[in-house]
Amino acid sequence: MPDSPAAAAESADVVIVGARCAGAASAITLARAGHRVVVLDAAPLPSDTLSTHLLWPAGLAELQHLGALADVLALGAPPLTNAYAAGAGYGIDTTFPTVDGIDHALCVRRTGLDDVLVRTARAAGAEIRQRSRVTSVLRAGNRCAGVRYTDGAGATVEISAALVIGADGRDSTVAQTVGAQPPLLTVPSGRDCYYAYWRDTPGRPRDTAAQWRVGADLGTAFPCDDGLVLSLVQPPAVPGRCGPSAAERRYTEALQRIPALADRLRDCERVGRVRAATGLSSYFRRSAGPGWALPGDAGHFKDPVTAQGIRDALRYGRLLGEAVTEVLHEPERLDRALRAWERRRVDECRAMFHWTNRLARGEAMRPLEIELYRRAADDPELARVTTGIFSRTRRPAELHTPARALRLVAGALRHQPDTRAVLRDLALELRIGARNIHATRTALRGNTPPVLTPRRSADRSDPPVPRSALPATLAAAPRRDRSVPAAEHR
Ligand SMILES: Cc1cc2nc3c(=O)[nH]c(=O)nc-3n(C[C@H](O)[C@H](O)[C@H](O)COP(=O)(O)OP(=O)(O)OC[C@H]3O[C@@H](n4cnc5c(N)ncnc54)[C@H](O)[C@@H]3O)c2cc1C
Repeated sequence: MPDSPAAAAESADVVIVGARCAGAASAITLARAGHRVVVLDAAPLPSDTLSTHLLWPAGLAELQHLGALADVLALGAPPLTNAYAAGAGYGIDTTFPTVDGIDHALCVRRTGLDDVLVRTARAAGAEIRQRSRVTSVLRAGNRCAGVRYTDGAGATVEISAALVIGADGRDSTVAQTVGAQPPLLTVPSGRDCYYAYWRDTPGRPRDTAAQWRVGADLGTAFPCDDGLVLSLVQPPAVPGRCGPSAAERRYTEALQRIPALADRLRDCERVGRVRAATGLSSYFRRSAGPGWALPGDAGHFKDPVTAQGIRDALRYGRLLGEAVTEVLHEPERLDRALRAWERRRVDECRAMFHWTNRLARGEAMRPLEIELYRRAADDPELARVTTGIFSRTRRPAELHTPARALRLVAGALRHQPDTRAVLRDLALELRIGARNIHATRTALRGNTPPVLTPRRSADRSDPPVPRSALPATLAAAPRRDRSVPAAEHR
């Protein structure tokens, strides 16, 4: 079939593939600027998707930017004003940093959250077409010039556009067809995800987002809308496929290994089945080229352990719209704007990428991390820095200033019996930090040529990356990476 857009019966300024976080954010921004925006999604809408949904204050600030926050708050999820993290016998209680006037987190199920986003995009003037699966992109020379899709009735339809935005998630068809596979940098997760909803019982703390670590296990309880609690467990990854009965078993076993979480859910009634996400990898893909861009998970994904994906999809979807709105029909300027947008996302997200991969290692807490918990339990400023990292108001490097790092090592040597284990951990952290810096300066260095090459279908999935070739099972950088902007939430 010809790839040329000449046959396209319809044209738009922008075609967006995917109508959830990233796609809706781009659509809202571009439609408000007066452009003709068509959004195609393969799913029926509204609908659920495989994702938990904790939003830190920075995520809510993104909803506020889009004008969607009031409708999301109206879904009735309780404001989470306290953060609690426990591990190795220490419990850290803290509040959230304020971002754009918002001082709490929120956990809103995706059917409602995504529906608000779609409705906001429609109100802004975007046309949303559900049950419409994009199968390939149209080309004009080396440019991406539109898409071909199958509509709900099974008909093949083509739309030409100055810009194709692939907001179609981790298995992005757009990424595949423009040649953005395999990713520039991939780090397999050391953890699997299993989650379920519970009907909460009266008297339980519905204002607290809680996380527990026991051995190599990690579990959370986040009160959400409709009187429910979302509970996600992330035990070490098990290779291979995971059917419904294995998911149920692994979820239940993990709960049993985390008594404080089991206690939080005591007398609560389970609602619905256990959902599983296994075999996850964090990555950066090449995310911009002639006439195309990949916001959201299509271009960049971090393990759910730090709950950053929705915020980043909203933010870089919006920033993409803002970056291109004035230059949509000037190809050279458009492509420059796309490259600058991509660069900004890499610069703002790479430290969090490494921080996330560190927590996704799927191991028990190591000596330096235990010392961090011990100190943070009694040091409100340290606790605030840590919570600020998750809310993107502080940078991971702020935990590793020379003074803080020295105090951490000295404290671990004083309080933990196995001196050699502490020194081994320190050596590992330094090695991993160095490898992270190397990986981001090579794989993500930013001078990869733009691509728009059809790929063989055999290339569809990421090739396995040998662990030895990875940038790391990662840690925060031992010294400050100066190219990471200080405040990225604006
Ligand atoms: C288990 C798990 C737990 C998570 N927990 C959290 C959390 O607590 N907090 C957080 O912030 N993030 C979390 N995330 C991350 C979050 O889910 C994603 O980062 C976020 O959904 C990305 O939004 P998106 O718009 O890029 O993609 P998606 O939400 O994946 O949406 C992509 C859309 O594209 C559509 N699509 C796909 N292919 C096509 C096609 N060919 N044609 C047309 N449409 C197509 C799909 O139907 C879908 O609607 C979690 C992820 C997982 C896997």
